[in-house]
Amino acid sequence: MFDLETHIVHMKDVKAQRECFLVSAELGVRCADALQGALPMLGPSTEVPGHICSCNGADGKPFAYILSRELWNAVKYDLKAGEKELFFKHGGVVQESLKEFRDFLSQWDFDYDYSGSVHCPNCGRETGDWRTDPTHPFALSNANTGGLLVFQCLNCGTTIRLKHFKDEVVCEHTLPSRPRA
Ligand SMILES: [Zn+2]
Repeated sequence: MFDLETHIVHMKDVKAQRECFLVSAELGVRCADALQGALPMLGPSTEVPGHICSCNGADGKPFAYILSRELWNAVKYDLKAGEKELFFKHGGVVQESLKEFRDFLSQWDFDYDYSGSVHCPNCGRETGDWRTDPTHPFALSNANTGGLLVFQCLNCGTTIRLKHFKDEVVCEHTLPSRPRA
């Protein structure tokens, strides 16, 4: 039901006009603060089983949570952001970015060779080449032919922007919006 890209499934019964949202246990745990913060603001749920309930697997551990439409409305931006973060955390690379990266390389006309080295100024993680490093510490999330590469540090969630100029590479970074679990 869930995979690298999908941690949210919208279920709808058109005939009965009922709907709910299934979120993976991993995403539910990641966004626990947002979920718990939203619950007191909602009135009692008109539907069984309430605003949130866990679905347990055969091992007794939750594999998903069912959210009411009201709860979903209150936390959807947090959940969508969390889903995206999980994608990068698990090493996902946006497919379009790989095409853009190939374009980036094909337009390369600087006097120095492109190096795949990336360094995270926040947690210190680094690699000699993000493309071949077996530990895959960074995920490419954007690239353009103007010389910009954007990475996510999979250790701490920092966004790292490498701007390639004629004679230097400038690194800028943005810390993750909230601490990682
Ligand atoms: Zn980092």
